[in-house]
Amino acid sequence: MSGDRYIENEFDDYARYCETSAFAYEKFLPKIECTVYKLLKVLELEAPIKTDARDCSVYTGSTGIALLYMNLALIQTADKNVEFNEKAREILVTQRLAKRRHDFTFLCGDVGPIAVRAVLHHRLGLQKEVKTDIDLLHKFASGCVSLETGEPDELLYGRVGYLYALLYINANISTKPIDVKLMKNVVQSVLESGQLLAAKMNCDSPLMYEWHDSLYLGAAHGISGILTMLLEAKELLDAPEMARIKGTIEFLISQKYRSGNYPSSLGSTSDRLVHWCHGAPGFLFLFAKAYEVFGDAPYLQEARQCADVVWKRGLLKKGYGLCHGVAGNAYCFLRLYKLTMEDCYLYRAARFAEFCCAYGTHGCRVADRPYSLFEGMAGTIHFLVDMLRPLESKFPGFEV
Ligand SMILES: [Zn+2]
Repeated sequence: MSGDRYIENEFDDYARYCETSAFAYEKFLPKIECTVYKLLKVLELEAPIKTDARDCSVYTGSTGIALLYMNLALIQTADKNVEFNEKAREILVTQRLAKRRHDFTFLCGDVGPIAVRAVLHHRLGLQKEVKTDIDLLHKFASGCVSLETGEPDELLYGRVGYLYALLYINANISTKPIDVKLMKNVVQSVLESGQLLAAKMNCDSPLMYEWHDSLYLGAAHGISGILTMLLEAKELLDAPEMARIKGTIEFLISQKYRSGNYPSSLGSTSDRLVHWCHGAPGFLFLFAKAYEVFGDAPYLQEARQCADVVWKRGLLKKGYGLCHGVAGNAYCFLRLYKLTMEDCYLYRAARFAEFCCAYGTHGCRVADRPYSLFEGMAGTIHFLVDMLRPLESKFPGFEV
């Protein structure tokens, strides 16, 4: 039986598979590699005609494609990587960034294109350009840090979307050029905002966040994404702040459905969404990070339970993308593989990759932006590229 949202997973589970054959990850690679270049050809042919050239965002626009090229460059030989970095550069230096609201986030704002450009400039050894980009990035702080701006805190349109960009820069540029004090200000602001709302609601959780009047819990708009990002900045947190984050994680665990999945917003009783943006897949990243930071075994158990939900219900009819698609769900297995080094998670990722290799044959819905990084084909290719180097894999715009 398949749900109305997902296709039944007919792959053998790992234990069953091992009864008849030994799992060899290498066996999956030729097909994956071949699909990477097959899909890339389609994308390069179709995307220029069918995408809105004015959209420069990481999420649905041209910077998402640039990030894909930068990822492709990493699996090339030295002479070939030049070609992919150059394709990324062409996109990033010709963009016309439009000033919008929420322009300070990595995934949906102007900060994403500038941050990605800075990292590419660093890769190309263009230090003067890097400095210009970094100066520009620091300027966005005034639009979001103070609580008086009234900006949200979530990842797509809120403060941790800016925090991610800052963390991304310092993780990818060896001189770590982002001012730590600025990062600390963002973190403090997010924590203060969460405490204020929790107090106002008289809530059991030490921190609470809302977006568009809803108490979302998932990775894209909700608390789990906010906490994941705060834990990525753990060096900036003191013991009481860590305790508040821990208390909020415990509160989230108390909201889990009996199925092991998580509600998309507080109090929601419809256990339907198993997406990175809403539901267990996004929570898996929080629990994995919490396990790394606090070392408490129960968090690893929670992450494993999320992975089981994704394995069972993660082949989505919504398609092959990152945000609410199969590739995004597959990143869950890579995250747990990196954490545990257990082959069963690499096996699961390889099976989801196999599903993605049959792109377009399952009757899945075609995304609104079918070639974009977060909704469409670029995200699928990004995941397949990461399957070729699983220990270095990273969910773009989310894993630091
Ligand atoms: Zn989504």
